[in-house]
Amino acid sequence: MSINFAQQRFLILGAGVTGSAVARSLQSRGGLVVIADDTAPDAVKPESVDLSNFDAVVISPGWKQDHPLVVKALASTLQILNEIDLAWQIRSEVAPGQKWLALTGTNGKTTTVEMVAKILQTAGLKAVACGNVGDTVIEAVDRSDAYDYLILELSSFQLHWAKQAQFVSAAILNIADDHLDWHGTFDAYADAKFSILDRAEIAVLNADDGAVVQRANRFTERKVFFSLDTPAPGEIGVVEELLVDRAFVADPLEAAMICELKDITPTVPHNVSNALAAAALARSVDVSHEHIQKALQAFKPGRHRIETVFESDSISWVDDSKATNPHAASASLMSHLSVVWIAGGLAKGADMNSLVQRCKGRIKAVILIGADRQLIENALREHAPDVPRILIDAPADYSRGGASNSLMEAVVTHAAALVTAGDTVLMAPACASMDQFISYADRGDRFAAAVRKVVAHE
Ligand code: ADP
Repeated sequence: MSINFAQQRFLILGAGVTGSAVARSLQSRGGLVVIADDTAPDAVKPESVDLSNFDAVVISPGWKQDHPLVVKALASTLQILNEIDLAWQIRSEVAPGQKWLALTGTNGKTTTVEMVAKILQTAGLKAVACGNVGDTVIEAVDRSDAYDYLILELSSFQLHWAKQAQFVSAAILNIADDHLDWHGTFDAYADAKFSILDRAEIAVLNADDGAVVQRANRFTERKVFFSLDTPAPGEIGVVEELLVDRAFVADPLEAAMICELKDITPTVPHNVSNALAAAALARSVDVSHEHIQKALQAFKPGRHRIETVFESDSISWVDDSKATNPHAASASLMSHLSVVWIAGGLAKGADMNSLVQRCKGRIKAVILIGADRQLIENALREHAPDVPRILIDAPADYSRGGASNSLMEAVVTHAAALVTAGDTVLMAPACASMDQFISYADRGDRFAAAVRKVVAHE
């Protein structure tokens, strides 16, 4: 398809980061653009749109399939597009040699795409992570000095709409309950994630994840499994203290060292799993084991991901505010032996029972905040009745985004009274933050500030 968009009339659904980037790109190519959005002041309201005025509709990832305008657009003869496929079309013209690697998963996406980008850059390649992290894909493609490699972080929403983009290799890190309010069922959510493999040459799949393994047979091209266990020929895995490659080696009976476990920060199981996936994607484009090791040794995950904010008297205070679903919180709790756990917020329809059942042996006490704290309290009451629970209401002077940090100061004061040497105070809320905070970053920053004030007396 030609990317001469001159005089074509596009309706873009959504005025957010994606919709705005798409609009800029289409306009720069002569396209005529109207943006529909319920809230943005300079967009048209979706209910006043007349679809007969357009040639194509571009759907932003946040839009649900049952939105009345999406339903109408799908039933019309208009071309239905999305940012990823438009970026792919533009790539075919501006950077046809550019290779795309992609990954998805319920958790670990940002960490892993950043690992891959770092590895490729360490090998001297011109590579960047994009999608849900950094630039949008359309911005990353549309540069005068083209990248050789894009590493795309793709959400289930983006994958739901994408039908054209092709990947040298694509990884699925894990699949657990999340965003069921958007997709409707777990199967629909898992299907969207698996569609990342539809146009991939190599699939990189987590052998430790039941939901991934169960669906793996849908992919008939080359599969490379990674796991925290000893790898079979054709796999990537862990042998004692080493990450080992038996997939991208000349002789399938051979095993090549990628790096040592201690090269990975933090050295916790789920993050080793991320490193294995990153290594597999890098090997799929022939990056050497030496470059992978060098890059992983230098790599630190982004903020609010198991970030130690203070340590004293053998007590660690850890901000894992990015743990916004039970799967991430579970990985985090299982990475620590004795935890005073801070949790709660918006559960997004997720079930808390299996999290509590799995992790109860690690939980010494719990401090609960936020709209859905009762959901976690109920799960604890049922599966771990002996674990002390403290439910905290927001103090009267606290408001979302306000100057007072009294909510987190109350949380940290309670935690300080419960914690003893050897424990970790872990904020891994298993919930989204928006009921009481601006974002997960705001929640994490407020936790760190409260720790500095109440515990460190700074
Ligand atoms: P995403 O982009 O998928 O949200 P992040 O790398 O930002 O992933 O991490 C999100 C949260 O999930 C963090 O709390 C992090 O500690 C946790 N996490 C990271 N990797 C994994 C994994 N492989 N399995 C489970 N939890 C993980």
